[in-house]
Amino acid sequence: MRVYLDNNATTRVDPAVVDAMLPYFTEVYGNAASRSHAFGWEAEKAVERAREQVAAVIGADPKEIIWTSGATEGNNIAIKGIAEMYGEKGRHIITQVTEHKAVLDPCSYLAEKHGFKITFLPVDQYGRVSAEQVREALTDETILVSIMHGNNEIGTLQPIAEIGKLCKERGVIFHTDCCQTFGKVPIDVSAMGIDLLTCSGHKIHGPKGVGALYVRRRNPRVRCGTVMHGGGHERGMRSGTLNVPGIVGLGKAAELCRMHMDSEPKAIAALRDRLKDGIMSQLEEVYLNGHPVERTPTNCNISFAYVEGESLMMGFDDIAVSSGSACTSASLEPSYVLKALGVGDELAHSSIRFSLGRFTTQAEIDYTIERVVASVRRLRELSPLWEMAQEGIDLKSVQWAPH
Ligand SMILES: *Cc1c(COP(=O)(O)O)cnc(C)c1O
Repeated sequence: MRVYLDNNATTRVDPAVVDAMLPYFTEVYGNAASRSHAFGWEAEKAVERAREQVAAVIGADPKEIIWTSGATEGNNIAIKGIAEMYGEKGRHIITQVTEHKAVLDPCSYLAEKHGFKITFLPVDQYGRVSAEQVREALTDETILVSIMHGNNEIGTLQPIAEIGKLCKERGVIFHTDCCQTFGKVPIDVSAMGIDLLTCSGHKIHGPKGVGALYVRRRNPRVRCGTVMHGGGHERGMRSGTLNVPGIVGLGKAAELCRMHMDSEPKAIAALRDRLKDGIMSQLEEVYLNGHPVERTPTNCNISFAYVEGESLMMGFDDIAVSSGSACTSASLEPSYVLKALGVGDELAHSSIRFSLGRFTTQAEIDYTIERVVASVRRLRELSPLWEMAQEGIDLKSVQWAPH
């Protein structure tokens, strides 16, 4: 058996999405910007249909959807584009510490190269910020608040409707990275006061290298400065020939999510809970990371005390998961997201992210529970620290001999 539980990193493309895309490679291959012939018109028609499919998921007008190469680009256009367009009004941006690097890095860039002031709000033990924290951080200089909906590592959902409402009251633009929630958790851009929203095809069983950015056109009309200069495609906000097959695939993937919105997220969350309960009921000293209830349906992140995450992963190499350590160059750094929650380095290194998707089965979950429990027990048996802890020795009191 080979089990894929790394759906927060990327997902398998749904076969129905592949079917929808195929004709756009070999039959309808025109440039969607070609206005002078049917090849172009047909491609444009497919692109506009996909715009409707994506817009429908979030209650937007299709005209408010901008195609991108993915969420990294979408976040860059949103943050740097707003900074460019509204930088005269003010030079302060509010975000929070557990955002994806595709939000944190553009913000740091604006601070370092363009003198913006960035507030990185801290999070609580579950990884949440509150609208109150945002309110306290707002100044007359604030032009943008960027807070993600669901976290990719720990699954925690942020109170974006409350934050959006606050931003509306204060006339500040609100951007939210919804990669992990688009099509999985209900989103309504108007009810939630969202001005800009990022999503990505490959997180929703669509293709890689394509995404969408929602940019509000009314109440208020939001404009992004140009990050990609060229032929003026996508209302001037993102030039470049459109990836028609990719866009068709993203549209289809969005439609599938919308069609199954009432049942699929619940079914995935039930499997996620089965996994969590199956593991946590059989092992001691295991801890769930992220919010117990306010979390995405796909994510289960657990720390296994006295076991090193990387070793644990090697113990079940037929199950694809990811660990709480980021393999940056040579060093193994504990995840900045877990650190932000106050999880210690040891526990962060012992954490595993299991993330489920449309194609996850109950048999796979049951197999995973069995394999994980057995691997943790075996590794703990080999661990002198675990043995000492079992004997009631307080490890903090131990005088370790110098190396
Ligand atoms: C995957 C992901 C991204 C990056 O998306 P790409 O389309 O791969 O560039 C950004 N933010 C979050 C929350 C993600 O999960």
